[in-house]
Amino acid sequence: MRTGLVVAALVAGSALSESRFISVSLEAQELPRILVIATGGTIAGQATGGQLTGEQIVEAVPRLGNVARIQVEEFSRVGSSAIGPDHWVRLSRRITDVLDSDRGLAGVIVMHGTDTMEETAYFLHLTVATDRPVVMVGSMRNSSAVSADGPANLLSAARVIRHPAAGGHGVLVVLNDEIHSARDVRKMDNNRVDTFVSREFGMLGVVDADEVVFRRTGMTRHTRTSELHLLPGTSELPRVPVVADFAGNDASLLRAAFEHGASAIVVQAFGGGRASPAVREAYDEITAEGVPVVLASRVPEGRVMGSARGNESGLAYAGDLSPHKARVLVMLALQTPKTASELQRLLNTH
Ligand code: ASP
Repeated sequence: MRTGLVVAALVAGSALSESRFISVSLEAQELPRILVIATGGTIAGQATGGQLTGEQIVEAVPRLGNVARIQVEEFSRVGSSAIGPDHWVRLSRRITDVLDSDRGLAGVIVMHGTDTMEETAYFLHLTVATDRPVVMVGSMRNSSAVSADGPANLLSAARVIRHPAAGGHGVLVVLNDEIHSARDVRKMDNNRVDTFVSREFGMLGVVDADEVVFRRTGMTRHTRTSELHLLPGTSELPRVPVVADFAGNDASLLRAAFEHGASAIVVQAFGGGRASPAVREAYDEITAEGVPVVLASRVPEGRVMGSARGNESGLAYAGDLSPHKARVLVMLALQTPKTASELQRLLNTH
């Protein structure tokens, strides 16, 4: 059976926004349609230092044409260390709009750098109200590298979207033949292609040569069942820094974060949420001013439990969320004022 790679290139908000079909076949017309949104990252990177367009990345994977009709949209062309809350808000709205207005779209793939993929993925997991699959994909080797992993990861993402069980898990992260939930996944290795790991609760499934296999689903609220939303007028999210504790800390950085107008502060504390003496003292001063402090841990596994410090007012505990994901949740939650115990309920359930 001959199928064709169908690429419709769209550049949102620019004069280049007409669709362009590179090749079409009859069979391809029956394949599901997937929107690929390109944001940049190593998956777009070249040895020369340049970045490929989304369309060029897709065209380099002709086998995608056996899986889906691909429509490509350029969102940005930056490494993910340059992606921030402003991008999260615009990306969430764009994906929501496209899923709402195009009921026939099978799903969305977001190509993204791996450095902050966790944060973007979790933000979308909490804010895009859909049951259709949204899959984040990236690579650890650039497009010019021997054994570049981007093409295989992109093909895997499209195959995942075609799987009948792919919807309803929230946002997925697909790399290295593995399917992870946006909530649980963390980048664990600076260099290797098996960097994304869902250590404590495990991956959701695998992308094998013969088939895609789902084995479990998460129990927390997300996408359609999320209680966290982007409020209609929101363009700027509340300021919520992550402040790391360290041995011998005098808490001056924590106090500086408070003095610079933080709406809440996530502390990347020691194991179990324990902290240096000066940091513990600063909690009282900060929470007394109505600024919640959320205790997370620099240790990657095991919950940070409230019982570690009792239910002191103004403190909340990240549980098994990483500090950076707890921050994403708190930023969304504080679009309207919340007490620490209201934040705690959201941290426990999302
Ligand atoms: N610098 C890259 C980024 O955009 C790293 C990667 O994509 O793997 O995050």
